[in-house]
Amino acid sequence: MVGGGIAGLTAAWETARAGVPVRLYEASDRLGGAIAPHVLAGLEVDAGAEAFATRSAAVPQLIQELGLSDQVVEPNPDGAWLQLPDLASPLPATGILGIPGDPAAADVVAILGEEGARRAAEDLSRPLEGWGAAAEAGAGAAGVGAPSVGAVVRDRMGQTVLDRLVTPIVSGVHSAQADDLDMGNAAPGLFEAMCQEGSLARAVAKVRSSAPAGSAVNSLEGGLKTLVAALEQKLTELGVEIRTGTEVTNLGDLDAEHVILAVDGPRALGLAAPYADLPPQQAELGRGVSLVSMVLKAPELDARPRGTGMLVAPSVEGIGAKAMTHVSAKWDWASRALTQQLGEGHHLVRLSYGRVGDDPAAGALGFASSDEQLLQAAAADVGALFGLPIAGEQILDADVVRWQKALPQASAGHQQYVAQVREALAQGWSAQSRSGPRLYAVGSWFAGTGLARVIPDARAVAELITNDS
Ligand SMILES: Cc1cc2nc3c(=O)[nH]c(=O)nc-3n(C[C@H](O)[C@H](O)[C@H](O)COP(=O)(O)OP(=O)(O)OC[C@H]3O[C@@H](n4cnc5c(N)ncnc54)[C@H](O)[C@@H]3O)c2cc1C
Repeated sequence: MVGGGIAGLTAAWETARAGVPVRLYEASDRLGGAIAPHVLAGLEVDAGAEAFATRSAAVPQLIQELGLSDQVVEPNPDGAWLQLPDLASPLPATGILGIPGDPAAADVVAILGEEGARRAAEDLSRPLEGWGAAAEAGAGAAGVGAPSVGAVVRDRMGQTVLDRLVTPIVSGVHSAQADDLDMGNAAPGLFEAMCQEGSLARAVAKVRSSAPAGSAVNSLEGGLKTLVAALEQKLTELGVEIRTGTEVTNLGDLDAEHVILAVDGPRALGLAAPYADLPPQQAELGRGVSLVSMVLKAPELDARPRGTGMLVAPSVEGIGAKAMTHVSAKWDWASRALTQQLGEGHHLVRLSYGRVGDDPAAGALGFASSDEQLLQAAAADVGALFGLPIAGEQILDADVVRWQKALPQASAGHQQYVAQVREALAQGWSAQSRSGPRLYAVGSWFAGTGLARVIPDARAVAELITNDS
């Protein structure tokens, strides 16, 4: 196993418990990859991923196998807000990717205005025209011709829905531009549902109604580090040899029958290149993001004035952050831990910088900005986003964490490219007369971003090995 992020750990768990001997190499000195803790004001909190989607049973099942089900926590149901140039407003309750399930709902009209809402509602009665034919030709499934979120929303509901609802979410959560984001990847099943229902809004309502009851995301008490620690313990008990601080640079050095590449896309392609006839690399393989976390002494935030956080529309001037999570409002465990550590009236916030399409040469903040620039911007942004003055002396601790190529772009055609890479890996093994190790690739670049995608995919790949052994 090359890589000890959640993909590598899951694949190791699946193979080791089936009795396959496993050795795991991790370049850094800790396991978990993008699930990582950091310490602020004496408190250990998530520096990367902080929650998992509950739309499928994939993550809860792993959590159950690890004996952690009693530690699952739900976020505060208040939900997040949107920051638009002229308005700060709670995110409508009935959307997917910001696409409203009910264009006439009061919380939607408040954001779109009467005219924008009227245009969005045209979707309910206007024929689908070309989209139905595209679906019949296979668009929307993994592969060629998959429509972008931007193209579908603009056509069905208009530019206002795209600008004021969808773009802030797509850019803040998916680190993508709506016109580049593959709809099938970003919202599985939604395009097909639209073609069946004859309406995007009805499709959103249908997909939402089929989601499991409860919150859309959950986490674990104390953060996701608990998941990594439990996996590490189980792997150790199963006799998996874990070599942290060991970067694999040449697969030829590994003495193994099967090698699972559980690293980011560019590294996986680089390592596999000598052993497989890979398709030409796509230009954009991943996005970098910088996170600024701050502990604030600010009792005025006890009322959670912006719910669990904010997504910021790119058109908002004077705010560099693309999103802010009010961590201690979102997770009760974080709030309790802060109070225990520092007393009442303390808050933890996390702001993210690095919007796709922003130009650093024009002053946009992002992955490449200095710590000083980011900390200074965050100190100003936090007050602007809460709509309250936050003075410098209220910031008790702050840090910057950078994630490079950690958010792969789910661009149109990416799923097809991934299928080609996986096929080339399998072929590469056959072409070597089955003399070298058999190669596989898992992880978010292959499966899609997020634990709910990465975990079942890693399991499925591991099963290829356990079935073969
Ligand atoms: C800031 C941020 C917030 C996120 N929030 C969420 C969230 O709330 N919910 C959610 O579901 N998802 C979230 N995600 C996405 C999620 O974290 C990832 O999709 C997932 O963790 C990726 O896991 P992975 O194992 O594929 O990759 P990684 O976690 O990147 O692990 C790859 C590992 O391979 C190691 N490695 C690389 N090269 C080598 C080599 N040559 N030899 C040995 N080891 C190597 C790396 O050191 C790393 O540990 C977030 C991501 C980021 C960056």
